[in-house]
Amino acid sequence: MARILALHAHPDDVEWLAAGTLALLSRDGHAVTIATATAGEGGSAEHDPQQTGRIRQAEAAAAAALIGADYFCLGFPDLGVFNDDPSRRAVTELIRSLAPDIVITASPVDYHPDHEAISQLARDACFAAPVANYRTGPAPATPAIPHLYFMDPVGGRDRAGARVLRDFGVDVGETFALKQAMLARHESQAAWVRKQHGIADHLADMERWTRRVGRDLGVELAEGFRQYRHEPYPKTPRLQDLLGEAVLSA
Ligand SMILES: [Zn+2]
Repeated sequence: MARILALHAHPDDVEWLAAGTLALLSRDGHAVTIATATAGEGGSAEHDPQQTGRIRQAEAAAAAALIGADYFCLGFPDLGVFNDDPSRRAVTELIRSLAPDIVITASPVDYHPDHEAISQLARDACFAAPVANYRTGPAPATPAIPHLYFMDPVGGRDRAGARVLRDFGVDVGETFALKQAMLARHESQAAWVRKQHGIADHLADMERWTRRVGRDLGVELAEGFRQYRHEPYPKTPRLQDLLGEAVLSA
């Protein structure tokens, strides 16, 4: 059994970009934790930030529970995620407390500043987690740097509109219904994305995206990933090995 941490910026980002893959891993007996940098308290035109944050954390926990995953919120402010000293220590402490074999995080380039910042924080906290003299809290230093992966950016593009290439995809045809159910738990976001992003139906939009990744990779429905292989991060294909035949070459 492997331990997997999926860490993104806001409640519902993981559901959009990686929930089908996490559902496959959870089905196969691996322990999955979904964590977000913020409670997504900016994502409402009806409720104040405190109420919105509470609602969205409850939605994220309910979505994670559908695949038997835990949910954790780092509590950083919406639009206020930065790769600074306290935030790096907090993300490192989270990684130490969970000791994941695999961390799957946001793309380092993406449309939203919080997405890019949590990606850098996750990358640097993976590096810091085994450094015993880097003090973060009660959790002990991890024995090694976890395997690190990036999800596709939203829409597959960076902030300048350039396409971001992926290493591999995962066929999520078997778990797509679960992915839909997980995103549907984020009920408050149906109205918000209509207002803020002009997206009439966030479930249909997520389906369009998952089908587009599938089309790129020759299957019906897929999600895309890159492995971070720079020194001294592990280079073996740990996640790909766990997913076996579901892995699609890009
Ligand atoms: Zn987001």
